[in-house]
Amino acid sequence: ESIRLQTYRDVQPRTRDGERIFIMGNIEFPEEVGHCTDRGSDGVGLYRTEFLYLQGDAEPTEEEHYDAYCKVVTAMAGRPVVIRTMDLGADKVSDSMRRGIAGHLDSALGLRSIRLSLQNLPSFKTQLRAVLRASAFGDVRVMFPLVSTLLELRQAKMVLADVMEDLDEEGIEFRRDIPIGMMVEVPSAALRADDFAREVDFFSIGTNDLIQYTLAADRADPDLANLYSAGDPSVLRLIRWVVEAAARHDVPVTICGQMSSDPKFLPLLLGLGIRQISVTPHVIPELKDLAGRLEVAGCEGVAAHAEGLELARDVENYLRDEVERTR
Ligand code: PEP
Ligand code: MG
Repeated sequence: ESIRLQTYRDVQPRTRDGERIFIMGNIEFPEEVGHCTDRGSDGVGLYRTEFLYLQGDAEPTEEEHYDAYCKVVTAMAGRPVVIRTMDLGADKVSDSMRRGIAGHLDSALGLRSIRLSLQNLPSFKTQLRAVLRASAFGDVRVMFPLVSTLLELRQAKMVLADVMEDLDEEGIEFRRDIPIGMMVEVPSAALRADDFAREVDFFSIGTNDLIQYTLAADRADPDLANLYSAGDPSVLRLIRWVVEAAARHDVPVTICGQMSSDPKFLPLLLGLGIRQISVTPHVIPELKDLAGRLEVAGCEGVAAHAEGLELARDVENYLRDEVERTR
């Protein structure tokens, strides 16, 4: 693999007809940033910070957050780093959370993610202070997970504004115009993409949860693997809907769910108008190579054909065959 790494590290991904594609990396631990820089990633498109909370027994302190973020931001040397605020709950529950809250923390439909942050303001503010402080050292962007309503987004933005005011009073530096984004991973948010696009700087579509909530199929249940499909026509329709709404408002859209790490979906995503993806770092070289063999017009044809199919299985088989043909 080291030959591939060297070959592709300095390649800026472009389609055969010259369209620049931005391929960023998803990370969970700061140490993983090297997997991104080794492969010449265009940034960190998703930093899942909840792993900080799962490591120790106590909640992470502001300094622990700050040290982790600074490591990533410094290593990315000016390239964008999208820090997602904690997305705990459902499959990710810490011991300190279990002790602190009696409730349905492990339900995918329960008190999790941004909902939990909004009910634990001191801990949410601690994290936001660290994100803002780290923003003085690079192109940091902040992203809220699992947003379902406009009210939640507005509340989260208000907390961020409060924290900015506190830092100002303390004379602490941060990036005043830090881009604010949200995950689009709940069908209610996807359906209202037009409304949300007026109030954020970027979207990132989380297909892992979007598929789960659209098809009412637990993302971790192996017995539902046939139902849980990124190729389901309902999922394609939601992605197109979000991409078109975002374009009307000039809001950039990234796809950061597992779907974008699977090469067979790349032609479809480009055909739907996606130009930025955030993926498991080890697939970056393969995706750069594939992007270079695709043409936008051909991808638009692939998307149109896929959107005409009725079954997820047919969509997946068609996309698999299509990508085989480019090899
Ligand atoms: C997603 O839901 O697609 C996503 C990227 O977030 P996570 O997998 O962390 O829920
Ligand atoms: Mg998610």
